[in-house]
Amino acid sequence: VPEGTAALEGSGIVKHFGGVHALDGVDIRVMPGTVHGIIGPNGSGKSTLVSCLTRYHRIDAGQVKIFGTEAPATAHGVARGGVTRVFQVPHLFERVSVLDNVLTGMRMQESYSWLGAVLRSPAYRRQDRKERQEARELLAFAGLAGRADWLASSLSHGQKRLLEVVRAVASRPKVLILDEPATGLTSEELDALGRLCRVLRERGLAVVLIEHDVDFVMGLCDELTVLESGKVIERGTPEKVRNSAAVLEAYLGR
Ligand code: ADP
Ligand code: MG
Repeated sequence: VPEGTAALEGSGIVKHFGGVHALDGVDIRVMPGTVHGIIGPNGSGKSTLVSCLTRYHRIDAGQVKIFGTEAPATAHGVARGGVTRVFQVPHLFERVSVLDNVLTGMRMQESYSWLGAVLRSPAYRRQDRKERQEARELLAFAGLAGRADWLASSLSHGQKRLLEVVRAVASRPKVLILDEPATGLTSEELDALGRLCRVLRERGLAVVLIEHDVDFVMGLCDELTVLESGKVIERGTPEKVRNSAAVLEAYLGR
């Protein structure tokens, strides 16, 4: 992939729901190794944009590219292409440990050898040790190290949402999309989420963050795309967005 290629790119995305113009020609470029925020008032089209980029919705016009190549036609294909979306409602395995929830995320990959697991071959045991160590490391970034051996059902709502993010990370995506992950988190959990996002950025992932908490977004994101009524009204660094007249008007002028 040539230098400067976006991890995820949408061009001229149009999406109507009946008479509602949810997206009206949206362009977005998310670079690898960055945290990219999507902000905008309620109903401005943030979630719809993500659904279009991940092929959960069929688009009425426009193009989606993943690392410079036309995105697969189905949501499943996009996920297999390394673009993972974390939903607002966690679907964890409540009756197994926090650690095992993470390991399940890792082992969704096709390379995982079920036969090796059944036979408990040396190669399997080596990989198993490596994966457990990596899972504990990710849990530590999320502030959940002390909870690794607890049942997932014992976690608070915010911790469950963090675990959902860790699980998504464990599947080794290239692009991770978080739709309002901070909702209902305590300030401690919010710090953990920020820490996790920074680690992912360092590892070269592209993180897409849809978020209401403007302070959190501004402190974390490298770049922002600002939507209003299905159109991009501003894009760029947090500083640029903070000083944008169009953004001020969108947030204050209503
Ligand atoms: P945001 O995530 O920014 O709050 P959404 O993307 O959820 O906004 O919604 C954008 C617009 O599209 C809103 O007017 C919303 O009512 C409409 N919309 C979203 N999803 C659907 C749907 N499945 N059917 C009909 N209208 C929808
Ligand atoms: Mg939304």
